[in-house]
Amino acid sequence: MKFATKAIHAGQEPDPSTGAVMTPIFQTATYVQEGLGEHKGFEYSRTSNPTRKALETCMAVLEGGTYGLAFASGMAAESAILSLLSSGDHIVSCDDLYGGTYRIFERVLRRYTVEASYVPARGGLDVYLQAIRPNTKMIWLETPTNPLLGIVDIRTIAEMAHRHNLLVVVDNTFASPYFQQPLKLGADIVVHSTTKYINGHSDVIGGALVLNDEEAYESIKFYQNAAGGVPSPFDSWLTLRGIKTLAVRMRQHEENARTVAKFLAEHPRVEKVYFPGLPSHPDHELAKRQMSGFGGMVSFQYEGTYADIVQLVRRFKVFALAESLGGVESLVCHPASMTHGSIPKDIRESRGLTDTLLRLSVGIEDIEDIIEDLEQTLR
Ligand code: PLP
Repeated sequence: MKFATKAIHAGQEPDPSTGAVMTPIFQTATYVQEGLGEHKGFEYSRTSNPTRKALETCMAVLEGGTYGLAFASGMAAESAILSLLSSGDHIVSCDDLYGGTYRIFERVLRRYTVEASYVPARGGLDVYLQAIRPNTKMIWLETPTNPLLGIVDIRTIAEMAHRHNLLVVVDNTFASPYFQQPLKLGADIVVHSTTKYINGHSDVIGGALVLNDEEAYESIKFYQNAAGGVPSPFDSWLTLRGIKTLAVRMRQHEENARTVAKFLAEHPRVEKVYFPGLPSHPDHELAKRQMSGFGGMVSFQYEGTYADIVQLVRRFKVFALAESLGGVESLVCHPASMTHGSIPKDIRESRGLTDTLLRLSVGIEDIEDIIEDLEQTLR
Protein backbone atom coordinates (compact mmCIF):
# COMPACT_ATOMS: atom_id res chain seq x y z
CA MET A 1 0.00 0.00 0.00
CA LYS A 2 1.12 3.52 -0.72
CA PHE A 3 1.48 6.28 1.91
CA ALA A 4 -1.87 8.05 1.39
CA THR A 5 -3.75 4.73 1.65
CA LYS A 6 -1.87 3.73 4.80
CA ALA A 7 -2.60 7.14 6.35
CA ILE A 8 -6.31 6.43 6.00
CA HIS A 9 -6.39 2.75 6.93
CA ALA A 10 -3.36 1.63 8.97
CA GLY A 11 -4.30 0.27 12.38
CA GLN A 12 -7.98 0.93 11.72
CA GLU A 13 -10.36 -1.94 11.03
CA PRO A 14 -14.14 -1.45 11.19
CA ASP A 15 -15.21 -1.92 14.82
CA PRO A 16 -16.05 -5.65 15.21
CA SER A 17 -18.90 -5.10 17.68
CA THR A 18 -20.84 -2.48 15.66
CA GLY A 19 -19.32 -2.29 12.17
CA ALA A 20 -18.47 1.40 12.72
CA VAL A 21 -16.12 2.33 9.87
CA MET A 22 -14.29 4.91 11.97
CA THR A 23 -12.37 3.81 15.05
CA PRO A 24 -14.60 4.67 18.03
CA ILE A 25 -13.44 6.93 20.87
CA PHE A 26 -13.07 4.34 23.61
CA GLN A 27 -13.70 6.82 26.38
CA THR A 28 -13.18 4.39 29.23
CA ALA A 29 -10.71 4.23 32.10
CA THR A 30 -11.05 0.51 32.72
CA TYR A 31 -12.23 -2.78 31.16
CA VAL A 32 -14.27 -5.64 32.59
CA GLN A 33 -12.37 -8.88 33.25
CA GLU A 34 -14.17 -12.21 33.00
CA GLY A 35 -11.93 -13.79 35.59
CA LEU A 36 -8.55 -13.09 37.10
CA GLY A 37 -6.19 -12.26 34.25
CA GLU A 38 -8.96 -13.03 31.68
CA HIS A 39 -9.62 -10.01 29.47
CA LYS A 40 -9.56 -8.83 25.86
CA GLY A 41 -6.07 -7.33 26.05
CA PHE A 42 -7.07 -4.14 27.85
CA GLU A 43 -7.05 -3.62 31.62
CA TYR A 44 -6.61 0.09 32.34
CA SER A 45 -6.38 2.99 29.89
CA ARG A 46 -3.06 4.39 31.14
CA THR A 47 -1.55 1.06 30.13
CA SER A 48 -3.45 0.61 26.87
CA ASN A 49 -6.54 1.93 25.11
CA PRO A 50 -7.97 0.78 21.75
CA THR A 51 -8.20 4.28 20.21
CA ARG A 52 -4.63 5.06 21.28
CA LYS A 53 -3.51 1.67 20.01
CA ALA A 54 -4.96 2.42 16.55
CA LEU A 55 -2.99 5.69 16.53
CA GLU A 56 0.20 3.95 17.67
CA THR A 57 -0.12 1.32 14.94
CA CYS A 58 -0.85 3.95 12.30
CA MET A 59 2.22 5.99 13.31
CA ALA A 60 4.43 2.88 13.20
CA VAL A 61 3.20 2.01 9.71
CA LEU A 62 3.67 5.57 8.39
CA GLU A 63 7.24 5.75 9.70
CA GLY A 64 8.01 2.27 8.33
CA GLY A 65 8.75 0.94 11.84
CA THR A 66 7.62 -1.96 14.00
CA TYR A 67 6.44 -0.30 17.21
CA GLY A 68 4.63 2.97 17.84
CA LEU A 69 3.84 4.69 21.13
CA ALA A 70 1.66 7.77 21.57
CA PHE A 71 2.00 10.40 24.29
CA ALA A 72 0.21 13.43 25.70
CA SER A 73 2.72 15.80 24.07
CA GLY A 74 5.86 15.80 21.99
CA MET A 75 7.82 16.56 25.16
CA ALA A 76 6.26 13.55 26.92
CA ALA A 77 7.42 11.39 23.99
CA GLU A 78 10.91 12.91 24.25
CA SER A 79 10.99 12.28 28.02
CA ALA A 80 10.09 8.65 27.41
CA ILE A 81 13.05 8.27 25.05
CA LEU A 82 15.34 9.98 27.55
CA SER A 83 14.25 7.42 30.16
CA LEU A 84 16.58 5.01 28.32
CA LEU A 85 19.52 7.00 29.76
CA SER A 86 21.11 6.67 33.19
CA SER A 87 22.93 9.06 35.42
CA GLY A 88 26.41 9.78 34.02
CA ASP A 89 25.39 9.33 30.37
CA HIS A 90 26.06 11.87 27.66
CA ILE A 91 24.07 13.00 24.60
CA VAL A 92 25.46 14.58 21.45
CA SER A 93 22.97 16.91 19.87
CA CYS A 94 22.87 19.67 17.31
CA ASP A 95 22.78 23.35 18.13
CA ASP A 96 19.75 24.27 16.00
CA LEU A 97 17.26 22.47 18.16
CA TYR A 98 13.70 23.00 19.38
CA GLY A 99 13.97 25.20 22.51
CA GLY A 100 11.92 22.77 24.64
CA THR A 101 14.32 19.94 23.83
CA TYR A 102 17.24 22.14 24.83
CA ARG A 103 15.36 23.06 28.02
CA ILE A 104 14.78 19.46 29.08
CA PHE A 105 18.42 18.61 28.35
CA GLU A 106 19.75 21.59 30.30
CA ARG A 107 17.25 22.12 33.10
CA VAL A 108 16.00 18.61 33.84
CA LEU A 109 18.55 16.01 32.68
CA ARG A 110 21.50 17.90 34.14
CA ARG A 111 19.99 17.44 37.59
CA TYR A 112 20.23 13.70 36.98
CA THR A 113 23.82 14.17 35.78
CA VAL A 114 22.98 13.41 32.17
CA GLU A 115 24.87 15.91 30.05
CA ALA A 116 24.27 17.12 26.49
CA SER A 117 26.73 18.82 24.20
CA TYR A 118 25.81 20.64 21.03
CA VAL A 119 27.61 20.63 17.71
CA PRO A 120 26.83 22.81 14.68
CA ALA A 121 23.89 20.98 13.11
CA ARG A 122 25.35 21.27 9.61
CA GLY A 123 28.95 20.81 10.72
CA GLY A 124 29.35 17.45 8.98
CA LEU A 125 30.25 14.02 10.27
CA ASP A 126 33.52 15.04 11.94
CA VAL A 127 31.96 17.46 14.42
CA TYR A 128 29.57 14.75 15.60
CA LEU A 129 32.39 12.20 15.78
CA GLN A 130 34.65 14.54 17.77
CA ALA A 131 31.88 15.23 20.30
CA ILE A 132 31.57 11.55 21.26
CA ARG A 133 32.88 10.75 24.73
CA PRO A 134 33.37 7.39 26.43
CA ASN A 135 30.01 7.90 28.22
CA THR A 136 28.04 9.02 25.14
CA LYS A 137 24.89 6.92 24.66
CA MET A 138 22.75 8.84 22.23
CA ILE A 139 22.86 11.18 19.25
CA TRP A 140 19.80 13.41 19.09
CA LEU A 141 19.11 15.00 15.72
CA GLU A 142 16.48 17.29 14.36
CA THR A 143 16.21 17.68 10.59
CA PRO A 144 15.12 19.98 9.05
CA THR A 145 16.31 22.01 12.01
CA ASN A 146 14.15 24.44 13.87
CA PRO A 147 14.07 27.34 13.00
CA LEU A 148 16.96 27.64 10.51
CA LEU A 149 15.90 24.67 8.35
CA GLY A 150 19.35 23.15 8.03
CA ILE A 151 19.51 19.53 6.88
CA VAL A 152 21.47 16.91 8.82
CA ASP A 153 22.72 13.81 7.00
CA ILE A 154 20.91 11.06 8.94
CA ARG A 155 22.39 8.09 7.06
CA THR A 156 26.02 9.13 7.46
CA ILE A 157 25.66 10.02 11.13
CA ALA A 158 23.69 6.84 11.93
CA GLU A 159 26.37 4.64 10.31
CA MET A 160 29.06 6.31 12.38
CA ALA A 161 26.94 6.21 15.57
CA HIS A 162 26.28 2.50 15.21
CA ARG A 163 30.00 1.81 14.96
CA HIS A 164 30.17 3.43 18.44
CA ASN A 165 27.07 1.58 19.75
CA LEU A 166 25.08 4.78 20.07
CA LEU A 167 21.34 5.21 19.68
CA VAL A 168 20.26 7.71 17.05
CA VAL A 169 17.07 9.67 17.69
CA VAL A 170 15.57 11.88 14.99
CA ASP A 171 12.90 14.46 15.66
CA ASN A 172 10.87 14.24 12.44
CA THR A 173 8.27 16.85 13.38
CA PHE A 174 9.15 19.30 10.61
CA ALA A 175 9.25 16.87 7.68
CA SER A 176 6.50 14.42 8.74
CA PRO A 177 6.79 10.82 7.52
CA TYR A 178 5.25 11.95 4.22
CA PHE A 179 8.54 13.63 3.27
CA GLN A 180 11.12 11.78 5.38
CA GLN A 181 11.35 8.40 7.10
CA PRO A 182 14.42 8.43 9.36
CA LEU A 183 14.25 4.74 10.35
CA LYS A 184 14.82 3.83 6.70
CA LEU A 185 17.93 6.04 6.77
CA GLY A 186 19.32 4.18 9.78
CA ALA A 187 17.89 6.07 12.78
CA ASP A 188 16.87 3.97 15.79
CA ILE A 189 14.00 6.06 17.14
CA VAL A 190 11.89 8.68 15.42
CA VAL A 191 9.98 11.16 17.54
CA HIS A 192 7.18 13.61 16.72
CA SER A 193 5.31 16.43 18.20
CA THR A 194 2.04 15.16 16.67
CA THR A 195 0.67 18.56 17.68
CA LYS A 196 2.12 19.72 14.35
CA TYR A 197 1.71 18.23 10.85
CA ILE A 198 0.59 14.78 12.04
CA ASN A 199 -2.61 16.10 13.59
CA GLY A 200 -2.48 19.16 11.39
CA HIS A 201 -5.37 21.21 12.74
CA SER A 202 -3.83 22.97 15.78
CA ASP A 203 -6.42 21.48 18.11
CA VAL A 204 -4.47 18.73 19.90
CA ILE A 205 -1.23 18.57 21.89
CA GLY A 206 0.34 15.17 21.33
CA GLY A 207 3.50 13.19 20.73
CA ALA A 208 4.57 9.86 19.30
CA LEU A 209 7.64 7.75 18.74
CA VAL A 210 8.38 4.82 16.47
CA LEU A 211 11.18 2.27 16.66
CA ASN A 212 12.18 -1.24 15.59
CA ASP A 213 14.17 -2.56 18.55
CA GLU A 214 12.02 -4.74 20.80
CA GLU A 215 14.09 -4.24 23.94
CA ALA A 216 14.05 -0.45 23.67
CA TYR A 217 10.33 -0.59 22.89
CA GLU A 218 9.59 -2.65 26.01
CA SER A 219 11.64 -0.28 28.13
CA ILE A 220 9.91 2.84 26.77
CA LYS A 221 6.47 1.21 26.98
CA PHE A 222 7.21 0.38 30.62
CA TYR A 223 8.08 4.04 31.20
CA GLN A 224 4.92 5.18 29.34
CA ASN A 225 2.77 3.21 31.79
CA ALA A 226 4.93 4.03 34.81
CA ALA A 227 5.08 7.81 34.20
CA GLY A 228 1.63 8.00 32.60
CA GLY A 229 2.05 10.78 30.01
CA VAL A 230 -0.53 9.24 27.68
CA PRO A 231 -2.97 10.98 25.30
CA SER A 232 -6.71 10.84 25.99
CA PRO A 233 -8.89 8.63 23.77
CA PHE A 234 -10.46 11.77 22.28
CA ASP A 235 -7.08 13.35 21.46
CA SER A 236 -5.95 10.03 19.97
CA TRP A 237 -9.07 9.97 17.81
CA LEU A 238 -8.65 13.59 16.68
CA THR A 239 -5.05 12.84 15.73
CA LEU A 240 -6.08 9.73 13.77
CA ARG A 241 -8.68 11.85 12.01
CA GLY A 242 -6.04 14.45 11.15
CA ILE A 243 -3.64 11.82 9.81
CA LYS A 244 -6.16 10.74 7.17
CA THR A 245 -5.41 13.91 5.20
CA LEU A 246 -1.67 14.06 5.94
CA ALA A 247 -0.62 13.30 2.35
CA VAL A 248 -2.85 15.92 0.71
CA ARG A 249 -2.05 18.49 3.37
CA MET A 250 1.70 18.00 3.08
CA ARG A 251 1.59 18.34 -0.72
CA GLN A 252 -0.28 21.64 -0.44
CA HIS A 253 1.89 22.95 2.43
CA GLU A 254 4.96 22.33 0.31
CA GLU A 255 3.56 23.86 -2.86
CA ASN A 256 2.58 27.00 -0.95
CA ALA A 257 5.92 27.12 0.92
CA ARG A 258 7.87 26.95 -2.35
CA THR A 259 5.95 29.94 -3.69
CA VAL A 260 6.45 31.85 -0.43
CA ALA A 261 10.19 31.08 -0.38
CA LYS A 262 10.61 32.30 -3.98
CA PHE A 263 8.62 35.45 -3.23
CA LEU A 264 10.71 36.24 -0.15
CA ALA A 265 14.00 35.49 -1.92
CA GLU A 266 13.22 38.29 -4.40
CA HIS A 267 11.91 40.77 -1.85
CA PRO A 268 14.17 43.82 -1.23
CA ARG A 269 13.43 43.92 2.53
CA VAL A 270 14.41 40.29 3.02
CA GLU A 271 18.05 39.64 3.83
CA LYS A 272 18.05 35.87 3.77
CA VAL A 273 15.57 33.04 3.20
CA TYR A 274 15.85 29.58 4.75
CA PHE A 275 13.98 26.90 2.78
CA PRO A 276 15.66 23.62 1.78
CA GLY A 277 13.70 23.57 -1.48
CA LEU A 278 15.53 26.62 -2.85
CA PRO A 279 18.48 25.60 -5.05
CA SER A 280 20.48 28.33 -3.25
CA HIS A 281 20.00 26.56 0.12
CA PRO A 282 23.40 25.09 1.14
CA ASP A 283 21.82 21.69 1.93
CA HIS A 284 19.52 21.53 -1.10
CA GLU A 285 21.24 18.48 -2.63
CA LEU A 286 21.24 16.57 0.68
CA ALA A 287 17.58 17.47 1.20
CA LYS A 288 16.79 16.08 -2.27
CA ARG A 289 18.53 12.79 -1.38
CA GLN A 290 17.13 12.39 2.10
CA MET A 291 13.61 13.76 1.72
CA SER A 292 10.91 13.33 -0.88
CA GLY A 293 9.82 16.96 -0.44
CA PHE A 294 10.90 20.03 1.49
CA GLY A 295 8.02 20.68 3.87
CA GLY A 296 5.99 23.76 4.65
CA MET A 297 8.32 25.80 6.88
CA VAL A 298 10.12 28.92 5.66
CA SER A 299 12.26 31.23 7.83
CA PHE A 300 13.68 34.58 6.85
CA GLN A 301 15.83 37.43 8.12
CA TYR A 302 14.16 40.79 7.78
CA GLU A 303 16.36 43.69 6.77
CA GLY A 304 15.66 45.98 9.68
CA THR A 305 15.75 46.18 13.44
CA TYR A 306 13.98 44.41 16.27
CA ALA A 307 11.76 47.52 16.60
CA ASP A 308 10.69 47.02 12.96
CA ILE A 309 9.84 43.38 13.68
CA VAL A 310 7.65 44.44 16.62
CA GLN A 311 5.61 46.62 14.20
CA LEU A 312 5.69 44.15 11.35
CA VAL A 313 4.20 41.16 13.17
CA ARG A 314 1.11 43.23 14.02
CA ARG A 315 0.33 43.82 10.33
CA PHE A 316 -0.23 40.24 9.16
CA LYS A 317 -3.85 39.45 8.28
CA VAL A 318 -3.74 35.84 7.05
CA PHE A 319 -0.73 34.74 9.12
CA ALA A 320 -1.51 34.60 12.84
CA LEU A 321 1.25 35.47 15.29
CA ALA A 322 1.45 32.27 17.32
CA GLU A 323 3.72 29.52 18.55
CA SER A 324 3.41 26.09 16.96
CA LEU A 325 3.37 25.02 13.32
CA GLY A 326 2.04 22.42 10.95
CA GLY A 327 -1.64 23.33 11.10
CA VAL A 328 -3.77 24.08 8.04
CA GLU A 329 -3.64 27.79 8.93
CA SER A 330 -0.62 30.00 8.32
CA LEU A 331 1.33 31.07 11.40
CA VAL A 332 4.21 33.46 11.93
CA CYS A 333 6.53 33.13 14.86
CA HIS A 334 9.41 35.19 16.26
CA PRO A 335 11.69 32.37 17.48
CA ALA A 336 13.97 34.59 19.60
CA SER A 337 11.12 35.63 21.89
CA MET A 338 8.74 32.71 21.41
CA THR A 339 9.73 29.09 20.65
CA HIS A 340 13.43 29.60 21.41
CA GLY A 341 13.10 32.14 24.23
CA SER A 342 14.45 29.57 26.69
CA ILE A 343 17.88 29.63 24.98
CA PRO A 344 20.16 32.35 26.43
CA LYS A 345 20.53 35.33 24.06
CA ASP A 346 24.29 35.00 23.49
CA ILE A 347 23.99 31.29 22.64
CA ARG A 348 20.95 31.97 20.47
CA GLU A 349 22.64 34.71 18.48
CA SER A 350 25.83 32.72 18.02
CA ARG A 351 23.63 30.12 16.29
CA GLY A 352 22.16 32.65 13.85
CA LEU A 353 18.89 32.90 15.69
CA THR A 354 18.73 36.67 15.71
CA ASP A 355 16.05 39.15 16.77
CA THR A 356 15.13 39.83 13.13
CA LEU A 357 14.43 36.20 12.21
CA LEU A 358 10.83 35.22 11.50
CA ARG A 359 9.58 31.67 10.98
CA LEU A 360 6.56 30.97 8.82
CA SER A 361 4.45 27.86 9.02
CA VAL A 362 2.89 28.17 5.58
CA GLY A 363 -0.69 26.95 5.70
CA ILE A 364 -2.90 25.57 2.99
CA GLU A 365 -5.02 28.67 2.42
CA ASP A 366 -5.23 30.00 -1.15
CA ILE A 367 -1.69 30.94 -2.14
CA GLU A 368 -2.83 34.28 -3.61
CA ASP A 369 -4.11 35.35 -0.18
CA ILE A 370 -0.89 34.19 1.49
CA ILE A 371 1.33 36.15 -0.93
CA GLU A 372 -0.90 39.21 -0.76
CA ASP A 373 -0.59 39.13 3.04
CA LEU A 374 3.20 38.96 2.87
CA GLU A 375 3.24 41.74 0.27
CA GLN A 376 1.11 44.12 2.32
CA THR A 377 2.96 43.35 5.54
CA LEU A 378 6.45 43.82 4.11
CA ARG A 379 5.33 46.95 2.25
N1 PLP B 1 9.94 18.90 18.58
C1 PLP B 1 9.75 19.96 17.77
C2 PLP B 1 10.56 20.07 16.53
C3 PLP B 1 8.82 20.94 18.11
O1 PLP B 1 8.65 22.00 17.29
C4 PLP B 1 8.07 20.80 19.31
C5 PLP B 1 7.08 21.83 19.71
O2 PLP B 1 7.03 22.90 19.18
C6 PLP B 1 8.31 19.68 20.12
C7 PLP B 1 9.23 18.74 19.73
C8 PLP B 1 7.54 19.50 21.41
O3 PLP B 1 6.25 19.09 21.16
P1 PLP B 1 4.96 19.45 22.07
O4 PLP B 1 4.80 20.93 22.04
O5 PLP B 1 3.86 18.70 21.41
O6 PLP B 1 5.25 18.96 23.45
